[in-house]
Amino acid sequence: MTDTIEWADRLKELPPYLFVDIDKAKRKAIAEGRDVINLGIGDPDLPPFPHIIDAMKAALNDPANHHYALDAGLADLRQAIADWFKTRFQVSLDRDTEIYPLIGSKEGLAHFPLGIVNPGDKVWITDPSYPAYQASVLFAGGKVTRIPLKESQNFLPDLSKLPSSKGVKAMFVNYPNNPTATCATKEFYKQLVDFARANNIIIISDMAYSEIYYDGMKPVSVLEVEGAHDIAIEFHSLSKTYNMTGWRIGWACGNAKLIAALAKVKTNYDSGIFQAIQVAGIAALKTPFEEIDDLRRIYEERRDCLINGLRSVGWKIPPPSAAFYVWAKIPKCFQDSMQAAKAFLDQTDIVTTPGVGFGPAGEGYIRMALTVSKDRIAEAVARISKIL
Ligand SMILES: *Cc1c(COP(=O)(O)O)cnc(C)c1O
Repeated sequence: MTDTIEWADRLKELPPYLFVDIDKAKRKAIAEGRDVINLGIGDPDLPPFPHIIDAMKAALNDPANHHYALDAGLADLRQAIADWFKTRFQVSLDRDTEIYPLIGSKEGLAHFPLGIVNPGDKVWITDPSYPAYQASVLFAGGKVTRIPLKESQNFLPDLSKLPSSKGVKAMFVNYPNNPTATCATKEFYKQLVDFARANNIIIISDMAYSEIYYDGMKPVSVLEVEGAHDIAIEFHSLSKTYNMTGWRIGWACGNAKLIAALAKVKTNYDSGIFQAIQVAGIAALKTPFEEIDDLRRIYEERRDCLINGLRSVGWKIPPPSAAFYVWAKIPKCFQDSMQAAKAFLDQTDIVTTPGVGFGPAGEGYIRMALTVSKDRIAEAVARISKIL
């Protein structure tokens, strides 16, 4: 880059990228041919169901699918989303005004604040959290306030200890939660909706992990709560449920005025989802829910292998109730999460994510993703047992 080029202030405002050193060490380890076990990134290792691939192949052969897609997507896709939502949460959504397909839910989450946040407006984000929330608020000119999530509160925000809601436009919540792997209860959402309505705060719910849960405990949607439709928008994704992270398809649903704001932003940024992917998405959404049981069983086995294995070597971690992560307090022999992650990589060739990368409240934890086979997890346990 030449000296005359200046980045915009909004880019300079972003927090520094904390994983530079770890990324470098990881690439070096792989280049050296070490047998690296990557528990760092939350990207499913399993393929999409064959019927989804087949639907995509057929869709590719239809010339009608190769044009610009309409912004709001195929009516059949929005109907499939409405049907899915009704079956899963017993909530009816209007396919034309309360549902909007996205090029992956991250895309929608990142663009949504542009439609509702004015410069100087405050937005609450939970800490730790998915980094895209903070960036989206800063890009919209908003101010971020971090709401700490504590283990003693089961990583739910303590509604009795929130800061002043003056000037607060919206708040992000994410359950099942990345990185803490916990769920919200319906009772929590009832209180949150009451609070948000009383204080005129928009709820932005990220439910990317709605179908990745354990022990049969189905996560609830905030939209199940009476009154939520007045103030909430919820983001869903096909990425984790159907192993389609690379395809880029998800949706937003909820309050029609909020959906219209997102739609207006998006019509100025993109031209919809490749229509063949929409057709394949319809096939994915029509997958009988029981078939996702197999996926959950696989993650549950991996979870138990990791949690029980680490417990047997003295590292006690509460089992996650949802999402495919284990959020673990670092053993006392490490100073902080960055040092712990580096030590794991240097001494065991295992990649983990330091908790501080999800916000200051993530310090003292590391995140391990259950997106490698059970054999590899067993191998990881064996290696970790040697250094603890
Ligand atoms: C994976 C993930 C997403 C984004 O998924 P998309 O692939 O963009 O649909 C959103 N939120 C959280 C917390 C995630 O972990």
